[in-house]
Amino acid sequence: MQKHYDVVVVGGGTAGCAAAYTAGKLGLTTLLIEKNIHLGGSITSGLVIPAMKSSGNQINTDFFNALILELQDLGGQVTYFDNPGWFNPELCKIALDRLMAKANVEVLFDTHVTAIDITDKVINGLTITSQMLSVYIAATNIVDATGNCEVGTLAGCTFLDAENKFQPVSLRFEMGGVGLKTFGKWIMDYDKDSNVTTSAVIGGQAHLSTAFTDSGEWALVPIFEDAVENNVLKVEDTGYFQLFTIPGKPDAVAFNCPRIYSNPEINPLDNAQTSEALIKGREAIIRLANFCKIYFPGFKNAYISNIADALGVRVSRRIKGKYIYTVEDLRSGKKFDNPVLVGNYPIDVHSNRPEKSVLEHTMQDYQLPVEALMSADYDNLFVAGRCISADFYAQAALRIQPSCFSMGEGVSKYIIFTRKL
Ligand SMILES: Cc1cc2nc3c(=O)[nH]c(=O)nc-3n(C[C@H](O)[C@H](O)[C@H](O)COP(=O)(O)OP(=O)(O)OC[C@H]3O[C@@H](n4cnc5c(N)ncnc54)[C@H](O)[C@@H]3O)c2cc1C
Repeated sequence: MQKHYDVVVVGGGTAGCAAAYTAGKLGLTTLLIEKNIHLGGSITSGLVIPAMKSSGNQINTDFFNALILELQDLGGQVTYFDNPGWFNPELCKIALDRLMAKANVEVLFDTHVTAIDITDKVINGLTITSQMLSVYIAATNIVDATGNCEVGTLAGCTFLDAENKFQPVSLRFEMGGVGLKTFGKWIMDYDKDSNVTTSAVIGGQAHLSTAFTDSGEWALVPIFEDAVENNVLKVEDTGYFQLFTIPGKPDAVAFNCPRIYSNPEINPLDNAQTSEALIKGREAIIRLANFCKIYFPGFKNAYISNIADALGVRVSRRIKGKYIYTVEDLRSGKKFDNPVLVGNYPIDVHSNRPEKSVLEHTMQDYQLPVEALMSADYDNLFVAGRCISADFYAQAALRIQPSCFSMGEGVSKYIIFTRKL
């Protein structure tokens, strides 16, 4: 018998989990389709932590709060200097399984959407495929939370690709066997005059965070220069370096690098380019790990313990929605009737050329309307996550995890409260 769902969410990542959890929790029959064998998307496959701190006036935070509680239960979350988004990516996989079960969401792993059934401006259902077997499922509402907007692509949607602009991709990794006490003491002292290194003991575990970005001040710059001179690092390895601890992993650190060098930027939708980027990224990880072992006290016995199994993509396709949100909307803090999120994270455009990077703080909170999550082409197709209908610079502020959580939650609430089911 043909199955029918009120909501089918495609992509069980950051925004998709929030969308499915909310729809299921509020009583809709909900199916979540994920191509990997675990949930979490960028958080788990990409090892992207921590969730950035956003505005204190955020809305649609039920999912974020539920995830925090679930992770606390597993020992995989801490609040670091007012930021509750310090997560353990491995434990997120389990926390998200549990949340979906609590919300009665049906989850299908290892499954792709391979065809769309359309009549006029409505999507009637999807063909989903796993292990070469395909089934048809009918859906009243579809949320595309695949990051690259794959349902929208299959459905022939219009995209905001006129600018065709990308940000650099990264490949994240972790190191274990780190003497955190030794390293923490050394780096806090070495970088004491700038404010980019912090540390704290939370629940008996030492935590720290340090970063060198295109524009930042950092006492360790001469160390990186020395490593380049001695062929331990390449110049391209030194543009962006971030390191921080992971809750529940007392001898490990996570890296928000390497950012993979390419001029022009890698097109995340071109498989040949992303394959090359993965290989380059893994070579850069070997260099960076070796560098840490040579130059950082506490890293003598450290080893690479994890390499992300997905490339970190900051931006690719952006759908054309019923509203196209602009950077002027964001800068002016324009108010909307149906906001899905309130944020204040800056416009954050990475570039491989330091002079082209942007980190522009906003003067006030901004809102994103639900219409920027509604496809211009189909009445029952929604998006959530980084593929929203926003211009390049606005998307560069909106793509952070807390905002993606709010988008997923907000779009499902909109479906529940305003649409015929
Ligand atoms: C290098 C990097 C560093 C970042 N750092 C931070 C940070 O420190 N803090 C922060 O808050 N944000 C950070 N971000 C931003 C943030 O992590 C992402 O923008 C956000 O997680 C994207 O969420 P999403 O739901 O759009 O996509 P994802 O979380 O990537 O989810 C997409 C999901 O869809 C699935 N999928 C894709 N195609 C299909 C298909 N055809 N069928 C079924 N499933 C499919 C994927 O497997 C995945 O699970 C960073 C991003 C990058 C790239």
